Amino acid sequence: MTNNNDSNFLNTQKPKTFPFSLTLVFIIFFTILNIGNTESIIPILGFHGIIDTKASTLRSYKGEMNYPREDLEKLLEYLILNDYWFLSTQDLYSFFLKKSQKISAEHRNKKTIMISFDDGYKTVHTNLLPVLYKLENKYRRRVKVVLFINPGSLARKNSVNSVHLGCQELREGFKKGFYDIQSHGMNHKNLTNLPRHQLVNELLQARTELRKCTQDLDIEQTVASHFAYPYGAYTKQVKYYVSKYYLSSYLYNDQILNYGCLKDYHEIPRLMVNRQKSSKQLIEMAKGLHPINNKEKC
Ligand SMILES: [Zn+2]
Repeated sequence: MTNNNDSNFLNTQKPKTFPFSLTLVFIIFFTILNIGNTESIIPILGFHGIIDTKASTLRSYKGEMNYPREDLEKLLEYLILNDYWFLSTQDLYSFFLKKSQKISAEHRNKKTIMISFDDGYKTVHTNLLPVLYKLENKYRRRVKVVLFINPGSLARKNSVNSVHLGCQELREGFKKGFYDIQSHGMNHKNLTNLPRHQLVNELLQARTELRKCTQDLDIEQTVASHFAYPYGAYTKQVKYYVSKYYLSSYLYNDQILNYGCLKDYHEIPRLMVNRQKSSKQLIEMAKGLHPINNKEKC
């Protein structure tokens, strides 16, 4: 009787203790896995226009994709004070994806981020560039931003009505070392709908025009070597042609880059930024605190 009770006791206890130790093993395992993950995470933020909420008229104020200048300034200031490395598209490609170049001692172990602006809005020149100058004067740090540009919609010389910036304005930011100028297709067309010859034309003409604008300033030909799909849209065929003319390509899918897992240089994820996101939320994104979906875990 007593023996039976004892064995019953043991039998009922066993299953309780075993899952507990198993849970512990799982917790330790996933903690290690997560640490590994955050180490190879690079947030790439995707902005569009920048508005000055104090000076804006109602007309230019509207639009979800315009981000307030004051909030952007707060984010950039935070990143400077926390000694972030502002990556260019070529930095990401050679140091982290291809690993064809070794990271210098100065940059090793630094937190990394990429800040990108699509479509070449004039407000990048009128509202972002002055912030970049101001921060450089204040902190002696130059913030590098990536501009994905459609040369087909660049403003003509002396045009006052265009909502886009022009070649001269691009050149100013490039010359000062603030802009990394890359391609977003010639005319911002959805590439997935185009016949092959038009697709190739969108890709090639954009590269030619952007390089023409910066020719004398861009000795190493860093301009238009990387690409962002208009509307983030691509197919296997689009990707195939883009990879013939560009080294890497960016999506717009609100996912965070885990470069330790990235297999395809033509599917680099970017985080979407719109008016709904406060500078505090962007700082969280910069810290890499963004849910990683199963596809990105490896
Ligand atoms: Zn776009």
